[in-house]
Amino acid sequence: RGYIFQSSEIYGGTGSVWDYGPLGVELKRNLKDAWWRRMVRMRDDVEGLDAAILMHPKTWEASGHVDGFTDPLVDCSNCRRRFRADLPEVADGQCPVCGTRDAFGEARQFNLMFKTFMGPVEEDANVVYLRPETAQGIFVNFQNVVTSARQRVPFGIAQIGKAFRNEITPGNFIFRTREFEQAEMQFFVKPGEDEEAFEYWKAERMQFHRSLGLDESKLRFHPHGDDELAHYAKAAFDIEYEFPFGWKEFEGIHNRTDFDLARHEEYSGKRMEYIDPTTNDRYTPFVIETSMGVDRSLLVVLADGYREEEVEGDERVVLGISPKLAPVKAAVFPLVKKDGMPEIAEKLSAALRDAAIPSFLDASGSIGRRYRRQDEAGTPFCVTVDGQTTDDDTVTIRDRDSLEQVRVSTDQVIPWIQERIR
Ligand code: ATP
Repeated sequence: RGYIFQSSEIYGGTGSVWDYGPLGVELKRNLKDAWWRRMVRMRDDVEGLDAAILMHPKTWEASGHVDGFTDPLVDCSNCRRRFRADLPEVADGQCPVCGTRDAFGEARQFNLMFKTFMGPVEEDANVVYLRPETAQGIFVNFQNVVTSARQRVPFGIAQIGKAFRNEITPGNFIFRTREFEQAEMQFFVKPGEDEEAFEYWKAERMQFHRSLGLDESKLRFHPHGDDELAHYAKAAFDIEYEFPFGWKEFEGIHNRTDFDLARHEEYSGKRMEYIDPTTNDRYTPFVIETSMGVDRSLLVVLADGYREEEVEGDERVVLGISPKLAPVKAAVFPLVKKDGMPEIAEKLSAALRDAAIPSFLDASGSIGRRYRRQDEAGTPFCVTVDGQTTDDDTVTIRDRDSLEQVRVSTDQVIPWIQERIR
């Protein structure tokens, strides 16, 4: 239906990179908008930011990525493929591709950052990295935001943007890719108030996912044990979803302590501390981070919404996603191509467009076929202009999930839909 295409498909595709098609881009945008609305616009203690992908290379020394952002990698001497040494089969000594046992050499550390050069000279002095996380753009701008937005701790900075990781074993469709988007928020608090803020953000983020209508029995927290904690973290919880391929993380909540600000202070020589304007207390704030993968969340939405079912003896495929997120909110059908029905449908469709409600006008094929196409695309409402419309100026609106049809007067269609897609 046009959700996701393989990148550069006409050339055979490129490894683990995907393009969002006409429906996919709308779904992704709606998901990011829902996040931005709740995390930035509806709060007065979080500011937005859009930092650049390319940053000063020292950023990544300070953050620990140059030295520490590595995965252990092994080569199979039989099939020559490379794997993460910590994959269960590999750790067990068997190659997941050719099945050979004990053919792995020594594990080597492999840095996951993409490296490139800034300017025309390709030498070490000009190395820059594609950012592997958006968070560092927030830390380096901490003082800029404090002074320009006149925020007081506790407050947060949020941004959505691309991140790149040269993953050794990407896969599971858009679950693990080399180019992806993150929606991250760093909340700055006074040391000592970090644990309370951590609990608050854990609950708030779970509430966000519930508000998207996801199946609650497929959502859970996974606390990180000491062996899983990142170098900067004091505590971390993943939010996991039960994908068809198992329970997996799609958002992380981390207590990053004052690690990042302190390191940037050390590497840049610039003060990163905060001075409380009322008490004159000086301290380096602790950071509670919420880090959601946009593409992974989109996969959650697709996996959660997809179902195949039987309706009146017919198989149907339904993408039962929340009307808030659905790319197309309403389809408009003239029942038949005569008796003025196409013209009324045309007018209704133009009115929906004017109201910025994404809609789709479809006059081809049987009404059943038209419903099925919209069910598959996830369109929550189908509006049909029929013989009665010319008599009493009403249309039917059919609900994707309950299949119920109601008659609504034509001039009420827009408010009726608006109320249900908020
Ligand atoms: P994983 O253990 O799966 O590699 P991570 O713990 O390294 O993930 P974080 O660094 O905490 O992930 O990143 C936060 C979020 O960014 C993840 O929850 C995930 O949704 C997303 N993310 C991270 N790496 C990728 C990737 N390669 N492809 C898609 N999304 C990713």
